[in-house]
Amino acid sequence: MRVYLDNSATTSLDKRVLEKMTPYLLADGNASSLHSYGREAQAEVDRAREEIASLVGCSAKEVYFTSGGTESDNWALRGVASALSKEGKHIVTTKIEHPAVLNTCAELQRQGYQITYVGVGADGRVSVEDVKKAVREDTILVSVMFANNEMGAIQPIEEIGAFCREEGIPFHTDAVQAMGSIKIDVKKMNVDLLSFSSHKFHGPKGIGILYIRDGIKCDRLLFGGEQERGRRAGTTNTPAIVGTAEALRLAVAEMEENNRHIKAMRDHFIDRVLKEIPACKLNGGTEHRLVGNANISFDYIEGESILMTLDLNGIAVSSGSACSSGSLEPSHVILALGRKEEEAHSSIRFSFGRENTMEETDYVVDVLKETIQKLRSWSPLFQAKEGESTYV
Ligand SMILES: *Cc1c(COP(=O)(O)O)cnc(C)c1O
Repeated sequence: MRVYLDNSATTSLDKRVLEKMTPYLLADGNASSLHSYGREAQAEVDRAREEIASLVGCSAKEVYFTSGGTESDNWALRGVASALSKEGKHIVTTKIEHPAVLNTCAELQRQGYQITYVGVGADGRVSVEDVKKAVREDTILVSVMFANNEMGAIQPIEEIGAFCREEGIPFHTDAVQAMGSIKIDVKKMNVDLLSFSSHKFHGPKGIGILYIRDGIKCDRLLFGGEQERGRRAGTTNTPAIVGTAEALRLAVAEMEENNRHIKAMRDHFIDRVLKEIPACKLNGGTEHRLVGNANISFDYIEGESILMTLDLNGIAVSSGSACSSGSLEPSHVILALGRKEEEAHSSIRFSFGRENTMEETDYVVDVLKETIQKLRSWSPLFQAKEGESTYV
């Protein structure tokens, strides 16, 4: 059996989305061209933009297409930082952001901006009070992710948004993991800039969106043509835009049903693992958590060994974040929860999606049980602990 439990890294393209995209993948016509080919493409892009806007509660002119979540995050942070640099150089964000935000902040720091990184509790959530305390006279942007990609914690976005609106500070949220899993209304949530990415909800890869509320100052990143109302240059990616609208429409329409199915598997998985495998713990809380996320530390063994053994059995999971795996640094997110370095090193993310089944879930627990037992039997650390406990 092959089981894909890495839906936070990317999801498969929905066949219904591919069907919608196909005519535009095959067609000629640059949406910026004045002839009928171009006009037809532009009409379809306009329609897609309208549909996306109505699905997230904004107007079409506030929707900008980018190359993905990473570009949207870069644009939001660097764009606002540049536009408001005369008013201040201080930005508030969190310790658990995706590298697309954290590494952009590191670059802004090199350029002379000051960044405050707010911490989280053991449940992985930022406190609104901590955000309030971090804000200063010269704060020009607050950026807090909607839901975390490693341990699934959902942040109090509406409350942080309300505070920022009151203070007149632009508020950005990276909603890449939340979109498709949580109903999002940017106006109700007081969000000024919001990033998301199609391939995380069964849309095409290489396309994302940045919502910029009308009136928010945000400089352009890319220079070139006048696409996206002069704010984001580059030939319009008509097929991917059409695909994004369809993927988002389906994700929103089928959200409840998908979430119910995904949560049932994820809960069953966590229950069985915590009951049947000794010395392991769930990272993050249970209440405000993405329905598909389970992140578990297995004491005395390395996450990478678990990942590779599961892979030999056809099971795809992730250790740390996909973006930082390959490096030997423990996950900054698991450390931010207050876990020890060894616990961060032994953590695995299992991310469930709508295509998974209960049968697969049980198969993964069975293989996991065997894997952990085998790896621990080779671990001198575990042997020592075992030895100790027999004398206690
Ligand atoms: C995947 C992800 C990104 C990056 O999006 P891409 O479209 O792959 O560039 C950014 N933030 C979060 C939280 C993500 O999960």
